[in-house]
Amino acid sequence: MPMTVSTIAIDGPAASGKSTAAETLARRLGYLYFDTGVMYRAVTLAALRRLGGVESEEDVVQLASSVVIDVRPPSIDDGRAYDVVLDSDDVTWQIRAEDVNRSVSVVSAYPGVRESMTRQQRRIGERGHVVMVGRDIGTVVMPDAEAKFYIDASAEVRAQRRYDEMIARGDEVKYLDILISIINRDQIDSTREVAPLCMAEDAIHIMTDTMTREEVVDVMLTYITEKEA
Ligand code: C5P
Repeated sequence: MPMTVSTIAIDGPAASGKSTAAETLARRLGYLYFDTGVMYRAVTLAALRRLGGVESEEDVVQLASSVVIDVRPPSIDDGRAYDVVLDSDDVTWQIRAEDVNRSVSVVSAYPGVRESMTRQQRRIGERGHVVMVGRDIGTVVMPDAEAKFYIDASAEVRAQRRYDEMIARGDEVKYLDILISIINRDQIDSTREVAPLCMAEDAIHIMTDTMTREEVVDVMLTYITEKEA
């Protein structure tokens, strides 16, 4: 009997292109696109603003359980895929700043923060018709997802892509700083105790160094179509 692939998990390291590929895939399927990294970024921004840093685990965990993070359809046509609202404040671009990049892996390694975020993410995932993106979606958040992909690229290619993106937005950044920040983030994300970045055993590994976004989406769509046949 034909089956519908309704829950799709996409994981991978920082700046691997998984978010843009997932967004296109979701649009092609008519599914909800849900980028879970946004939630960790919003908590990090809140901690930097309200606590002046992310070092106090207890305070950050408390903050994570009390802030309201909302992801809504885009209200402004400035290249954004969605609005990220933190307690009624539009922080869509602020959560992409370098100070957030530098601290987000510390925040996301706190077990108490992950507990709050995972609970909310599962609730959305259980409704189905969703493409969910992150680091632990196929392994922890939605281990029963019907299709799982692990989107990868070398650190140098990922740094170059992020650099090009930020320069295009008018940010003043240095390639080497971005490369170091990505390598640091990978290191913390893949060695943390709770829900480390790793590929689910049943995930399809896509190495994207020499692939375009369209090719990545095509590989995923072909796999999904074959699974549904
Ligand atoms: O995907 P993005 O780079 O926006 O994620 C930012 C950070 O959020 C990651 O480096 C990681 O520390 C954390 N994250 C996570 N689990 C997820 C999604 C993101 O730990 N499911």
